Amino acid sequence: MAEGNKDTRKRFGRRGRDRGDRRSEPKPKVPELPPVMCSMCGKQIFDLSSALAGQSGADPVHFDCALARMAETEQLGPNEKIAYIGRGAFAVVEYRDKSMTAFTVKRRVQWEKEGEKYEWRRAMQQRMGL
Ligand SMILES: [Zn+2]
Repeated sequence: MAEGNKDTRKRFGRRGRDRGDRRSEPKPKVPELPPVMCSMCGKQIFDLSSALAGQSGADPVHFDCALARMAETEQLGPNEKIAYIGRGAFAVVEYRDKSMTAFTVKRRVQWEKEGEKYEWRRAMQQRMGL
């Protein structure tokens, strides 16, 4: 019984703070950054490496939130889709067959300000040693 108690306490102590948080391993030495919230949906961004800056500001947003906004504002045709083409830009692409292998870029939409260096991204890249 004593053994059981010890075990419970140990597990609780290690995991209590991170409950619901899927980040796998604890980061050594680098101090924990304050949570970053998405300026579009207000929820926390766990994976900053895939986040984008907001369309009208520097604050980061979820990639999916940006994508959803793009789909809303671009009024896509039946064979059109939004694709991320890198460097903070999306493109509206039109698929030419059902297998969705051939497509044409119909227009490019710059989402992040081009060439802008965002503070949160710099901090994230530093943390990752980039
Ligand atoms: Zn969001």
